Amino acid sequence: MSEHPEDSSCEIPGGPPPDGRRHRQFDGEAWDGVSPRVYKLGGSSAPGAAWRDVARHTLAGGAGEPMAFQLRYFEIEPGGYSSLEKHRHVHTIVVLRGAGRAVVGREVFDVAPFDFVYVPPNVPHQFVNAGAETFGFLCPVDADRDPPQPLTTEEIHDLVGDPKVREVVRIAEDTGSGIRDPGSETHVVIARGAAPKQSP
Ligand code: MN
Repeated sequence: MSEHPEDSSCEIPGGPPPDGRRHRQFDGEAWDGVSPRVYKLGGSSAPGAAWRDVARHTLAGGAGEPMAFQLRYFEIEPGGYSSLEKHRHVHTIVVLRGAGRAVVGREVFDVAPFDFVYVPPNVPHQFVNAGAETFGFLCPVDADRDPPQPLTTEEIHDLVGDPKVREVVRIAEDTGSGIRDPGSETHVVIARGAAPKQSP
């Protein structure tokens, strides 16, 4: 699986086709008519902007539906993590599979299926796979939202000054290949890692 960052300002349109379907069956890997996409494209080489092995499934929103939110499902493979970022819009997540850790400011939560996490506005956060299986969670989000911001050096310094955060948080130092996406839509991630690892 490839890995690439972005900031959400250049999120590729991820909604399902506006085909009016009321039901999408899940086949064990994806939903009918919803292609898993890369988590983020383009982006920044700022510390904390790196991410690894994350796929995004957008189930609703962004395809002309009359709704003010998007319903997304993310999967993070073993060893993977989302970018360490902050933004004004909130996150609410519900875990559906696997084991993860959520960094929310200076708090670290071990999460398991059906656990819920709330990320308040402007609080740095990161989701990390903490197990040997895929970590999957629902993450509905405002359709109209501000793009994620990388943390300042001071913010990162402050976070890693806390031993329990430092133990969990993943920052760019070990993620060179995750820092920049070549920007091609050909990098569609197929969830659950059948694809060989790519070096961008
Ligand atoms: Mn976020």
